[in-house]
Amino acid sequence: MIKENLRQVRERAAMDHPEPSAEDAYVYRRPIPDDLWVKCPECGGVMFCEEFEKEYSVCTKCNHHFRLDARERIDMVVDQDTFVEMDKNMRSVNPLGFPGYGQKIEKLMEETGLSEAIVTGEARIGGFACMVGAMDSRFLMGSMGSVVGEKITRMFESATDRRLPVVLFSASGGARMQEGIVSLMQMAKTSGAVARHDRAGLLYISVMTDPTTGGVTASFASLGDVILSEPGTLIGFAGRRVIEGTIAQKLPEGFQRAEFLLEHGFLDRIVQRSQMRPTLIQLLTAHVSPAAKRSRRRIRDFRDAAAEYSETTVARVREFFADARHIGLFGVDHDHPPEGAAGPAVAPPRKASERLDLIRHKNRPTLRDYIPLIFDDFLELHGDRLFSDDPALCGGIAMFQGVPVTVVGHVKGRSLEENSRTNFGMPHPEGYRKAMRLMRQAEKFGRPVLCFVDTSGAYCGIGAEERGQGEAIARNLFEMMDLRTPIVSIVTGEGGSGGALAVAVCDELAMLRNAIYSVISPRGFSSILWKDGTREKEAADLMKITGEDLVEFGICDAILPEPDEGAHADPRATAAGIVDFLSRTLPKVCGHPVADMLEKRYEKYRKIGMYLE
Ligand SMILES: [Zn+2]
Repeated sequence: MIKENLRQVRERAAMDHPEPSAEDAYVYRRPIPDDLWVKCPECGGVMFCEEFEKEYSVCTKCNHHFRLDARERIDMVVDQDTFVEMDKNMRSVNPLGFPGYGQKIEKLMEETGLSEAIVTGEARIGGFACMVGAMDSRFLMGSMGSVVGEKITRMFESATDRRLPVVLFSASGGARMQEGIVSLMQMAKTSGAVARHDRAGLLYISVMTDPTTGGVTASFASLGDVILSEPGTLIGFAGRRVIEGTIAQKLPEGFQRAEFLLEHGFLDRIVQRSQMRPTLIQLLTAHVSPAAKRSRRRIRDFRDAAAEYSETTVARVREFFADARHIGLFGVDHDHPPEGAAGPAVAPPRKASERLDLIRHKNRPTLRDYIPLIFDDFLELHGDRLFSDDPALCGGIAMFQGVPVTVVGHVKGRSLEENSRTNFGMPHPEGYRKAMRLMRQAEKFGRPVLCFVDTSGAYCGIGAEERGQGEAIARNLFEMMDLRTPIVSIVTGEGGSGGALAVAVCDELAMLRNAIYSVISPRGFSSILWKDGTREKEAADLMKITGEDLVEFGICDAILPEPDEGAHADPRATAAGIVDFLSRTLPKVCGHPVADMLEKRYEKYRKIGMYLE
């Protein structure tokens, strides 16, 4: 493949193209190859052909990702010799009778060896059968006319019939002008085919490559369950010059690049090209592997699968906690006191006010510390697809004991920099909307949702109100009460107000031993009721906010062990307790038919309340 790539790079270099101008997004920029080395036209860096090819046409000096043609794209990700092309001979006609269009197509066919701007077919990726498509921006800027629209639609229809996932690499200037209104309608047609594939519960991974613009951004490319891109990719609806002309302003550097899209919530991830195939395999494993399918058919199958794992895990965790320092910690799990594990010396629970210092300890583990200790293969997914990506709320797909799960949770920072980036774990509305998007995705694919709660509350500010903080929280409660997949929540530190509850509605709630969960932070409580924020410790002890209190209220189902000195003293031990809880709880919550599960969830909250009448 390396030799073939080099040959193609050379051939294209030899083709008669005008000198590319930096302004033109659609012009192919490619390194000038010699026999042994290539010079990057982006940074002027010189590297060996071999290095350049090993990175799949990425500059090893400046990481510029050069454009690939459709066949290179496909070769790069599919298992060798598995690609079988579909609709190979479909060709364009000239619906408007546009002068010169026919000849232009003929010429491009000859130059590129393609019949049109997209190649579609069936292949295997990491052994998983899927439909794969790749657009080619050499062919009339990868624009979408009848043939591109029809091939994409057929690919999705065929995937729907055969229950296969779709992986589609877009690279396009948009709808094809030369075919007029017929091109515009391809946007609706392809989107309709994606919608049917989606309703059949099937996975669509959209990869936006350089450039993905216009009507393709405004149709199938933006509709993936997961949307990936590469560093520096141009993505946008309107062209830069059109925008600059309309608003009479110069656009900033980096506008409409993949990094900009990620920040604004429209991409799940930016993936280095050499990581594209492993990332696709990871996503396919989480969605269409036998374990994923089993958890999806769920109920009994999941229970069996997880039970197998949990026996070994429980044994491992017990061994871990047999360490003298942790003896007895299991005893505080009211719901499931494990036989024989509880030692004689259970330290008495701390007062709520004493726990405040522990849960605010600068080394208290955050979700990012727990994830690698609890899960395998975590793949973080970003963005609410509406406005932004909120670092205060982290989410993604992971494997828990061989079964795919969706993980969401607040992230507090440790350093000043991380705290400012994550807003001290106080999400904006877009954080809650990202969590909801990922929970909906979990529901579609039948993955349990695991929520980790640690926030003093939702962020208060102008932007948060403008974008509907109240609506975002309400929407999550509304959707989560009725989400057709199990939800397990764990309060690991502070569970502050609606900002916590918005990712904590669940079938089973656990709290770490020193965690608190309250209607408002103790400081807020004392400020509002006593007009004196300094009385927060007094408030904490009055508010009934400990795990023991919440078990009594019937809100918390389990208290999980922490080392005596607090979770930071031994994050591994704390994580092991969470693993043990999850391995016992998941089979239980997954063991009910969906209708029963929703009824139980409704009842769980329905019965909370105290009154006389
Ligand atoms: Zn370079």
